[in-house]
Amino acid sequence: METYANALLYAIPFFTGLVLIEILYGYFVKNQKHNVMDTVSSLSSGLTNIIKDSLGLVVVLVSYPFLLKSLSLFEMKATWLVWLVAFISIDFAGYWNHRLSHHINIFWNQHVIHHSSEEFNLACALRQSISNLVGYFSILLIPAAVLGVPTQVIAILAPIHLFAQFWYHTQHIGKMGWLEYIIVTPSQHRVHHAINSEYIDKNLGQVLSIWDRMFGTFQEELDDVPPQYGVLKPASTWNPILINFQHFWRLLQDAWRANNWLDKFRIWFMPTGWRPEDVAKKYPIAIIEDVYNFKKYRPAASNSLKGYAIFQMLSSTILMLFMFYNYSEIGFKGLLLFGAFVFTGIYGYSALMDRKRHAVWIELFRGLTGIGLIVFTNDWFGLNSYITIGSLLMILYYVITIIGGFYFTFFEKPTGLLQLPI
Ligand SMILES: [Zn+2]
Ligand SMILES: [Zn+2]
Repeated sequence: METYANALLYAIPFFTGLVLIEILYGYFVKNQKHNVMDTVSSLSSGLTNIIKDSLGLVVVLVSYPFLLKSLSLFEMKATWLVWLVAFISIDFAGYWNHRLSHHINIFWNQHVIHHSSEEFNLACALRQSISNLVGYFSILLIPAAVLGVPTQVIAILAPIHLFAQFWYHTQHIGKMGWLEYIIVTPSQHRVHHAINSEYIDKNLGQVLSIWDRMFGTFQEELDDVPPQYGVLKPASTWNPILINFQHFWRLLQDAWRANNWLDKFRIWFMPTGWRPEDVAKKYPIAIIEDVYNFKKYRPAASNSLKGYAIFQMLSSTILMLFMFYNYSEIGFKGLLLFGAFVFTGIYGYSALMDRKRHAVWIELFRGLTGIGLIVFTNDWFGLNSYITIGSLLMILYYVITIIGGFYFTFFEKPTGLLQLPI
């Protein structure tokens, strides 16, 4: 996990740099594909995902080393061939895992976050899951295990394979000629994120587009069908932590309310969106019918709230970078506590962005506990050994957090802001 944390120390500035370039490009060509609050929400979702993953908070059902030990028929030497076989195996497994995520209720819950943005841009790529709490991906790597691909090769390639799915989340690149036949391109992935009936659940490939063509899920981007982005049951919140469990919560409620015991059990494994008949009738859920005319989620937001959201998101990023930089010194228990602080922060400021009144209490709580921890330990997770006024800066940050919570909840009335351009 420490190597993953180290890799992220380089990956995070690189990805955020590219997001910034995309924002600037959109500004200069007067074709902006970013919306401040949506981008803050996407980047915050990325933060939650990497904190959760770097802490290894997952129950692994079957591990790859175990599969390799029990199934391998060959012993692969470290040649270029092993890397190629490993890459193709990971991509093949990724395709089926992605297909599973789109088509089965319980699996959709852990993927919906990635589709929840109603925009399509590089930031949206960083909307990644924290609700993937059971590790089963290795089962899909059985072909690699049979062929004897070493664990280390998989461990090195897996993050590279994930990072390679970042670049194509953009609307600024058109079709790419012959490359369209080999790899997943921005055009193909726009189709994937679209809710148009022509496009939905298509192009499930991750790096290679050959699987979609092979297994009948390929759809080209059509000139007369402009992709409309989002999910059919809109998330209607900027809070990435909530989005991660929204679908699960609906399934749980439906299972609870269903009369039939079979329905209570099978709802989890039925096709995405399936609901027991009696519950669907009694508790209807609105889904988008006309994809060209739905209202995007845009609660009132003043420029000062937008600026404040950016400030909070950047502070969380800096805190998290410090956490990764100091990973081994902080220790596992400390990391859990540190992660909890960042999570509470993201929950709090995104609730403010949502204009939820309870946000103020979350902000007050995390501000006071943060200050309490600094006073109690005389430090902030070892920050003082890097910057002498580290604790003071953190106290200042938490004071701003408390003031911000009160100001945006009680003094800046959202009703008065409806006239502002958003
Ligand atoms: Zn998807
Ligand atoms: Zn995507």
